[in-house]
Amino acid sequence: MQQQQYKIILCDYINPKSDSKCQFIQNAAVVLRRKSSNKYVVDSVGKRETVLKKMAGKKSKEVIDRRTMIMLPAFLDLHFHWVQDEVSLMPKNVLMTWLNRYTWPYERKFEKAAFARKAAKLFAQKLLAVGTMGGGCYASIHQASVNWAMKYFVGDFFIGNVLMTVNSPSYITQTAQAAKKLVAGMLKKYKGRYVVTPRFAITTDPATMKDVAAQARHYSAFIQTHISENYQEIEYTKHLYQNQKGFSKAYDSYAKIYDHCNILTPKTILAHAIHVDEEELRLLKKRRVSIAHCPTSNAPIEQKGLGSGVMDFSSLDRLKIPWGLASDIGGGPYLSMFDVMRSFLVQNMQKKEATAIKALYRATLANAKILRIDKKTGNLERGKQANFILIKYPSKSRPQKAEQLLKNILLVKESRRKNFMNIVCESYYQGLNLFSSKQ
Ligand SMILES: [Zn+2]
Repeated sequence: MQQQQYKIILCDYINPKSDSKCQFIQNAAVVLRRKSSNKYVVDSVGKRETVLKKMAGKKSKEVIDRRTMIMLPAFLDLHFHWVQDEVSLMPKNVLMTWLNRYTWPYERKFEKAAFARKAAKLFAQKLLAVGTMGGGCYASIHQASVNWAMKYFVGDFFIGNVLMTVNSPSYITQTAQAAKKLVAGMLKKYKGRYVVTPRFAITTDPATMKDVAAQARHYSAFIQTHISENYQEIEYTKHLYQNQKGFSKAYDSYAKIYDHCNILTPKTILAHAIHVDEEELRLLKKRRVSIAHCPTSNAPIEQKGLGSGVMDFSSLDRLKIPWGLASDIGGGPYLSMFDVMRSFLVQNMQKKEATAIKALYRATLANAKILRIDKKTGNLERGKQANFILIKYPSKSRPQKAEQLLKNILLVKESRRKNFMNIVCESYYQGLNLFSSKQ
């Protein structure tokens, strides 16, 4: 069916621009323009009456009335493991135990291509249902877990196979040779959409890290891994590397270990970075890496997180280290970025700069910048892809300011709402409605 030239959505409109700026228009009309066959971009936005008057003469248009709803840009999730969806709510006492007992046995199942395919199809629907349309994604060591995710996920996803050559159970360990070959083949196939993903310093040997870092550089691809999530992991890492050939006592920090393996680059995304000292921060700054902050995953065990601690975003801001929010499914319990934003606010209540506007910016445009896709997505500026969600007002009140409205959404319902997995009413990708809730 031939689509109309224009779509006009009548709704309230929220458009994050920076840590402190967010455009909010009540009684708005958002005009989408067809750019090619079925793909729409944002054309203009304004007060409903004005826009409708201006568009009155256009014949090829569809008006979509969502006057009780709020439009927000689609989310970008900077760090998540799509192959851990099933274990996200399993008991998490300590990271290594959770990995050994639940996560790794589950990831093993993705060696079967048919299993991976079915799971990817299902997970693609879940992503749309929470309004996430891009991000940095970890698959398992198996090729099929990347191939099917690349095929089914809707949006700008950068995906890589975790590399595990040492210190992991034999059923989920590759030889160094196999890991390097896998990366070479996948980079050739997917170019910059493939992310070189040493799982973390514990499970990827240094020679392999060096090799794949060089491959990433060759393709100008992203590198993603974890750093300094908890003390036990840090101590184990330092202990392992102190006995490695080529690592003297001078490599006495997690960041220095990665640096020695050429992992720290301007296209590197490190998850967590909770327990990093000033010297490490300065090294991360020097190498221009970005940080994926995962508050729901780091949250206390009673909140279904791993109890790792609170990341100090103020230190990153002080040094101007780019960072964005991430769900870290399945270390994080919830796929919805609304849960991640709420957790960020709750954990940083005492900091006045931890605003709801900042949380929204860090779940959208900031991540688009880190992923270098901000020219086409990340918020609802004119000319960008029409990637957005629609949600209902949380209550009868109609705040005039974006900060208050976002706070009402994220915090006021905290006692009534267990999580935000069902908050999205509709998801649109490039102007096409790909998800509608049944509620
Ligand atoms: Zn992770």
